[in-house]
Amino acid sequence: KKSALKTMIGKQSQSKDGHVYELFGNIASSKDINHIINFDADGIGLYRTEFLFLDHLVLPTEDEQFEEYKKVLESVYPKPVVIRTLDIGGDKHLPYLNLEKELNPFLGKRAIRLSFDHIDVFKTQLRALLRASAYGHLKIMFPMIAVKEEFIKAKAIVEEVKQALRKEKTKVADFELGIMIEIPSAALMADQLAQVVDFISIGTNDLIQYTMAADRTHQSLTYLYQPLNPAILKLIDMVAQAGKKHQIKVSVCGEMASDIYAGPLLLGLGVEELSMTPSHILKIRKILSKLNHSDLEKLSKSVLKLDNEEQVLSELKKLIKV
Ligand code: PEP
Ligand code: MG
Repeated sequence: KKSALKTMIGKQSQSKDGHVYELFGNIASSKDINHIINFDADGIGLYRTEFLFLDHLVLPTEDEQFEEYKKVLESVYPKPVVIRTLDIGGDKHLPYLNLEKELNPFLGKRAIRLSFDHIDVFKTQLRALLRASAYGHLKIMFPMIAVKEEFIKAKAIVEEVKQALRKEKTKVADFELGIMIEIPSAALMADQLAQVVDFISIGTNDLIQYTMAADRTHQSLTYLYQPLNPAILKLIDMVAQAGKKHQIKVSVCGEMASDIYAGPLLLGLGVEELSMTPSHILKIRKILSKLNHSDLEKLSKSVLKLDNEEQVLSELKKLIKV
C-alpha cells in the first residue's frame, strides 16, 4: 500500500475531472523540512513558530528567529510558506514571559492578544520575518483573530516595522498578510474580513472547540469534538464563499484537513488549499484523484442541511470508497 502512495509523488493534486488543489504541510520547526520535501507538499501552509519559543530557556533573539525563518523559506522556494506569529496561551506556556494565571486560559490572553500585550516580543518577531522575506515566498498569518480591528492593528504594526527596516536600509521583499479563522465571530464576519486580508486559513481545531464550547483537550468531552457537524460545516462554507466573492485564497490547516472524508468535503465547499501533517498528503492526493470535483461540490452543499455528524459521515461514505 505504501508503494502505491509513492506513485503520487511529483503529481499535481487534482480531481478526476481536472480541478486542481494545493496540499500543503504543517511544520513546527526547520527540522521538519525533510517531511515537506519527502511527502511532496505543494508548500508550507502552517509553520507554528511557538515551538521555536518553547524550545528556548530565554526569548529567541531577532537573529536566531531570522536564521530559522530564512532557512525554511529558502528550502522550499519558490513554494509559499505561511508563517504564523506566536500562538502562546491556552495550553501552551512560556516560563520566561511571566504570564498571569487565568480562570479560562483558552478564552483568555492567547495568540494575537498576547502579542499585543507583549509588543516588544511581537515587533522582534515581525522584524525577523520581514528580514527573511527577501529569501522566499512569505505569507505572515495572525492567529486567533476575533474582530477586524485586531487585523488592522497588527497590519499597522507590521507597517511600522517595515518602515523602520527600510530606514536602516534593510531589504524587505513583498509578502502577504493573512489571518486564521478559528473563532466563530470571525467566520460569521468572513465577508468583511475577506475585504482587508490577503488570505485566510481556517483553524478547525480551535473553531470546533469554540463553536461547541468544549475544551479541545478535555478527555470526557471528546464526543462534542465533531468536525463534520453541520454547525462547523456551515461556518466553513461562509468563509469559503467570502473568499470566492473577494477573490482571496481560503485554506484549512486544522487536523480535519487530513481526514479522508473531511478533506475532500472541505474542497467541495470551495476551500482551495488544505494544510496537514505532511505524512498524510499523498493519501489525500490519491483519494482526490479518484473523485470528481463536481460530485464533491454537490455533496458538500447537500450535507449542510442534515441534522448531525453521523448523517454527514454516512453520505460521505457513499461517495468516498476506501
Ligand atoms: C487550529 O486551531 O486548527 C490550528 C491549526 O492551530 P493550532 O492547532 O496550532 O491551535
Ligand atoms: Mg489554533
